[in-house]
Amino acid sequence: MNQNSMDSFYITTPIYYVNAEPHIGHAYTTIVADVIARFYRLSGFDSFFLTGTDEHGNKVVEAAEKSGETVKAYVDRISKTFKETWPKLNIKNDYFVRTTDKNHQDTVSEILSEVYAKGDIYFSEYEGKYCIGCERFYTDTELLQGNCPIHKSEPRLIKEENYFFRMSNYQDWLIDHIDKHPDFIRPERYRNEVIAFLKDPLEDLCISRPKKRLSWGIPLHFDENYVTYVWFDALINYISANGYPEGEQFKKFWPVAQHIIAKDILKPHGIYWPCMLKAAGIEPYQHLNVHGYWNMRTGKMSKSLGNIVQPLDLAAKYGLDAFRYFLLRDMVFGLDSDFSEESLVRRLNADLANDLGNLVSRSMAMTVKYLDGSLFAPGKLEEADIGLREAALKVVEDYKGMMKAFAFNKALIVIWELIGRANKYIDIMKPWVLAKSDRERLGTVLHTITEVIKMVSVLLWPFMPQTAEKIQHQLGLDRSGLELTLDSLKEWGKTKQVRPISKGPALFPRVKVEEGRPAVLSDNVELP
Ligand SMILES: [Zn+2]
Repeated sequence: MNQNSMDSFYITTPIYYVNAEPHIGHAYTTIVADVIARFYRLSGFDSFFLTGTDEHGNKVVEAAEKSGETVKAYVDRISKTFKETWPKLNIKNDYFVRTTDKNHQDTVSEILSEVYAKGDIYFSEYEGKYCIGCERFYTDTELLQGNCPIHKSEPRLIKEENYFFRMSNYQDWLIDHIDKHPDFIRPERYRNEVIAFLKDPLEDLCISRPKKRLSWGIPLHFDENYVTYVWFDALINYISANGYPEGEQFKKFWPVAQHIIAKDILKPHGIYWPCMLKAAGIEPYQHLNVHGYWNMRTGKMSKSLGNIVQPLDLAAKYGLDAFRYFLLRDMVFGLDSDFSEESLVRRLNADLANDLGNLVSRSMAMTVKYLDGSLFAPGKLEEADIGLREAALKVVEDYKGMMKAFAFNKALIVIWELIGRANKYIDIMKPWVLAKSDRERLGTVLHTITEVIKMVSVLLWPFMPQTAEKIQHQLGLDRSGLELTLDSLKEWGKTKQVRPISKGPALFPRVKVEEGRPAVLSDNVELP
């Protein structure tokens, strides 16, 4: 790794297919990318976060026809919906790529030229079972009772002449690469899935579609009767967006590239993409991070199956940070998870309103009441203070490792253990008693508590930036948000207070549950 890439971090989401509007699956993937990008920024890395839209292929043409628009007008409209959704979820991507961008199309042609010139693309006839929904051929063993495993519909038998990429040439290289880089694909279950797939001979990849069947795509410059297969087109976004081959951004970020995907697109990302890169003479990405599905009641959540949850509706109803917290806390990255509004409300009430909200609210209230909001230098630390400080410093270290491993739920669990410990510390220290008996000790205890709350706010910033900054504002600190780096947490008690500590409204108003259904309370519940 060269000096330039030491302090860089590059994360991508898949580019989303524009045959439907953003749903909770898209929101989850993109929020995860935002959380990990914020974490690396907080760690002092120069971070690049890419998302975008995938706009070619049959499904897009069909969707445009259905909505009575030209294909161009349709892709512009849906792409805009995605682009405008992310800022509303406080997602800060650095770039938004579209596969209809000229720059992207040029890069696809360039990569195709290189691979073609190398002799890794050939012309041949193929007959196979083709799922229009997936836009790919299926082998019999991949089908479930003859149906596409994702769309549950019978694929069509198609026979046609096409161009093929000699993916089989790269099978041995890929097996070896995965063997030498055990966390190339993670979590391990997906690595194992790819390894199992590579036990059988790899078939060459059909990379073209005849224009007579599909005209909405990037033309093959070596045969005008064909356009590029959507996957070969789409995957290249990860390098076209930052200026392959000579762009500074490409040179800086590609060596540390990490992708996030849902498990349904493991094969294109775990197999096609590394082989394509290798064939084009480009180093493979560093990590492929694969997550599971959010299940409603049955099957995968997507528009074609009819159970869609509008992310913005939930964020508006319960607050953006509660929504972000729920998604990251409830799903074990890599596994499937059940989504319900009820479990979101349960988390909101127990973890956010009760544990976190209570800690912040009562600590601020006591500091205002007993010290007029102004802390003073702590006296000699007692065992309980040191115990809490050491626990907090250990959480910071544990958190870093868990975040780097995409174990977001574990990172949140250790933060909540610290919150629980801080709440218990208050119960045992009883500042309301100390206020009458020992002012110096009171100052030390409140100093220790506010220091822990500051730490919690920094650790929470990637997940809940608004809440973290609200807490930091109440603490009257000289820095907030990204200015309070993870490094700054090593200096216990060194952050300057530039304003008195103040009380704010409850961070998370409790949601009242009536007859099993959540109803939002309009008044903020003041905690003791
Ligand atoms: Zn399908």
